[in-house]
Amino acid sequence: MKWILFFGALIGPSICGREKFFGDQVFRINVRGGDEISKLSQLLNSDNFKLDVWKSPSTFSHPVDVLVPSVSLQPVKSFLKSQALQYSVTIEDLQALLDKEDEEMQHNERQERSNNNFNYGAYHSLEAIYHEMDNIAGEFPDLARRLKIGHSFENRSMYVLKFSTAEGRRRPAVWLNAGIHSREWISQATAIWTARKIVSDYGKDPAITSILEKMDIFLLPVANPDGYVYTQTKNRLWRKTRSLNSRSPCIGADPNRNWNSSFAGAGTSNNPCSEVYHGPHANSEVEVKSVVDFIQQHGNFKCFIDLHSYSQLLMYPYGYTVNKAPDAEELDEVARCAAKALASLSGTKYQVGPICTTVYPASGSSTDWAYDNGIKYAFTFELRDTGHYGFLLPANQIIPTAEETWLGLKTIMEHVRDHLY
Ligand SMILES: [Zn+2]
Repeated sequence: MKWILFFGALIGPSICGREKFFGDQVFRINVRGGDEISKLSQLLNSDNFKLDVWKSPSTFSHPVDVLVPSVSLQPVKSFLKSQALQYSVTIEDLQALLDKEDEEMQHNERQERSNNNFNYGAYHSLEAIYHEMDNIAGEFPDLARRLKIGHSFENRSMYVLKFSTAEGRRRPAVWLNAGIHSREWISQATAIWTARKIVSDYGKDPAITSILEKMDIFLLPVANPDGYVYTQTKNRLWRKTRSLNSRSPCIGADPNRNWNSSFAGAGTSNNPCSEVYHGPHANSEVEVKSVVDFIQQHGNFKCFIDLHSYSQLLMYPYGYTVNKAPDAEELDEVARCAAKALASLSGTKYQVGPICTTVYPASGSSTDWAYDNGIKYAFTFELRDTGHYGFLLPANQIIPTAEETWLGLKTIMEHVRDHLY
C-alpha cells in the first residue's frame, strides 16, 4: 500500500486515475471472405468477451484488430481455434505501452515547463495545445487568428486557427479537422504541428504562399475536447463524445456518425453503449453542431479534410453507400497524387479509395456531410500506423507522420486552389 502511494506521488495524478489494461492484448484476426466475417461478427457482437474493436471487419478481407481483456484471452483463443480463424498478437502488453507513453508525456511536460518551449514531437494536454494555438496567433498576428467556434458538452471551448492573408473578405476556404475520435492522438498532434508549419512556411514555400493568396485555412486541432481530456485522465482508449444519454447509462455518441448525411444508416448503431452509436438525432453532439453551424454560416468552404488514425488510408465519399460519388474520378486522382507526395518523404504507403468500399460502410460521417453540402473536395486520412501500435503511436513518430502528411495536404490544397468552383 505504501509503495502504491509512494509510486503514485512520483508519477502524478493522471496515470493513477486512469483505467488500467493489465494483461490485455490486441489481436489481429485474418478474415478471408464472408463466411469468416460472419463467424467473427458473432465473436465481436457477444457481450461476454468485452472486446473493443480497433479496426472493424470490412467486406474486403482486411484484418480485424481487437483489444482482448485479460479475462477473455483464453475463451477468445478457444473460439478462434474452434472456428479455424487465423490470428496473431499485435500488442502483447498493452499496459506497458500505455505506461511508456504516459511517462514520456510527463517527462516532456517537465521539460517544457523548464524551457518554456512547445515540443512538437510530444503529445500534449488540451490546455497545452490551446496555449500553443494562442502563441501562434500572437507571433503571427497578420496571418493567424484563434477563434472560438463553440463549446463542448462539458463546456470546454472549441478553438480553430484561421490562417488568412485577406482579413475581412470571405475567401474560398479549407477546413482541416482533427481529433474527432479522441483516442487517435496522432491526429491532434499532426494538426498542431501543421499549424506551426503553415505560419513558418508562408512567404518561403511557394506552394503554401500561393494557397494562402487565394484561400483561407481553418484548422480545428481538437474536434472532441471532452473525449481528449478523458483519454488523458480516465481511459486512454475513449473514442466518443462525453454527452449523457437519456435512455442509457452509457456515455457519448460517435461524433463521426452524428452528421446529417444518411444519419443512422449503414455502419452505425442505435445502441448508446456501442462505439459507433449515432446519437439521438443528427447534430445532437454540440461539438458536431458547432462545426456545422460555422461552416454553413461561412458558406464558402471548398475543401474539408478530416484526420483520423490508424491504417494509412486516404479516402473520399461516399461512406454511406457503395454508389460512386459524382466527382469520384477527380477525387480519386487527387487522392492518388496526395498519397504519392506523402510517400515521397519516407516511403509510407497509403491505400486510396471511397470510404465505403475501402474500409466499411459508415453513415453520418463528416466527409459525406461536407460533400453532400457542396464541399466537393472532401477527404479522410487514416494516419500511421498499420497496426503495430494502433492508436498508441509512439511520440517519436509524430514529426515524421506530420511531415509526410503535410505533403499530402499540400497536394490536395494546391489542386483546390487551381480548381476553385
Ligand atoms: Zn477516427
